[in-house]
Amino acid sequence: KTFRDLKLNETVQKGIEAMGYVSPSPIQAESIPVLLEGKDIIGQAQTGTGKTLAFGSVLLSEIERSDHISAIVLSPTRELAMQIGEEFGRIGKYTDLRFACVYGGSDIGRQIRTIKHGIDVLIGTPGRVMDLMRREIVSLENIKFFVLDEADEMLNMGFVEDIETILADAPKEKQTVLFSATMPDGIKHIAENYMKSDYTHIK
Ligand code: AMP
Repeated sequence: KTFRDLKLNETVQKGIEAMGYVSPSPIQAESIPVLLEGKDIIGQAQTGTGKTLAFGSVLLSEIERSDHISAIVLSPTRELAMQIGEEFGRIGKYTDLRFACVYGGSDIGRQIRTIKHGIDVLIGTPGRVMDLMRREIVSLENIKFFVLDEADEMLNMGFVEDIETILADAPKEKQTVLFSATMPDGIKHIAENYMKSDYTHIK
């Protein structure tokens, strides 16, 4: 099986080819078709399995450039957020989509200017995203994709309230993708309260 068989958007396919990837990894082969059907997923996968491309390829295939944020990716750390941002930049190289990567400990003024200029995808750590929501710089009103990456790590770091506040602000009609290496009760709680009941669990 090749990426071409998965029928991603042609501009995204071009980005994947430019990255030099031909065959999807197991987590990609399992999750991409389910996500393209519009279903929510919980993916149990570690870093290094290709999970970023699994959700990134679908999300960047399915959204269009507009004057509001269409997708949000929450990450536990600045390092992971930056990695996701760089990978999205490669996958989305031939699209017209715009990204912003936001995290604590860096100049918020610059992040605000980028967002105000117009972005389609917001990648960030929960605390900084919350801060930008409170300042009414970020609105999740038009979110179509909500990704929680390394969700168990975010819970371990004490981000559970921030995550729930951010999730509660997003519309009910959206696609939720949750990646977590482990499945503690806190993750099950988020799945039960914020995800569609027919989500697919991919291990
Ligand atoms: P991740 O698990 O998302 O952190 O990805 C780990 C690394 O594998 C990243 O450097 C990706 O660019 C790379 N990668 C993702 N998908 C593939 C693939 N299908 N074939 C080869 N490398 C990949």
